[in-house]
Amino acid sequence: MRKPIIVGNWKMNMLRADTKAFFEAVEPVLTGDEKADYGIAAPYTNLTTCVEHAKHLIVAAENCNEKDSGAYTGEVSVPMLQELGVTHCIIGHSERRMYYGETSAACARKAKRLFAAGMTPILCVGETEEEYVAGKTVDVLKEELEGSLEGLTPEEAAKIVIAYEPIWAIGTGRSADQNTAEECCRTVREIVGGLFGKETADAVRIQYGGSVKPENIAMYMACENIDGALIGGASLKADSFKAIIDAVK
Ligand code: 13P
Repeated sequence: MRKPIIVGNWKMNMLRADTKAFFEAVEPVLTGDEKADYGIAAPYTNLTTCVEHAKHLIVAAENCNEKDSGAYTGEVSVPMLQELGVTHCIIGHSERRMYYGETSAACARKAKRLFAAGMTPILCVGETEEEYVAGKTVDVLKEELEGSLEGLTPEEAAKIVIAYEPIWAIGTGRSADQNTAEECCRTVREIVGGLFGKETADAVRIQYGGSVKPENIAMYMACENIDGALIGGASLKADSFKAIIDAVK
């Protein structure tokens, strides 16, 4: 059985005081016995505050560098995150692919480095509106997954979390309908199966992301191939994140 995983992605939002208030409001509603894992991916500057206040919430970074140290101004390495107590890390978010040139090959190197540290990558994949309209979704998923999972062992691939995030649904309020989300997450699972075998495909957790909110999370969680969600806007307010936890319970 796959344990669902629901992660808020704060992107470039939340100061440390907001972070403390959020954790103080959300932690008391969690017991650790929930049927899903819950977590927050926060900006680097907030990670210490997150770890200090986390009891049951997973703490994730939003990016990492694949090298351990060196002359890479502005970058943060996996050992630096590990030292803080961060256990998960988003890689390949479409915003990083689009604005900062993050490639699938870089994702594969980051995933490998994260696994070497015993951490869990949350790999994002998904098509643009143009690709969606042109019927290229499956091709895009194939290309991104083949490139981003390259070099992983089947055991590593089974432990990765994959977030299917159609770019046209991110921050637009235009969430994918249930069929589209389920079909694309099933496609992701099939592609993983083709690359690593059925056992890995059955084990890998696949999230849907794109305008998920308290009102629609249950609809996605009811899908056979959707094992959680990656949530932007609706994860910024403690009340809305608590409503999401409530809707999943
Ligand atoms: P929204 O939930 O704001 O659409 O963002 C989705 C996302 O990009 C999560 O990584």
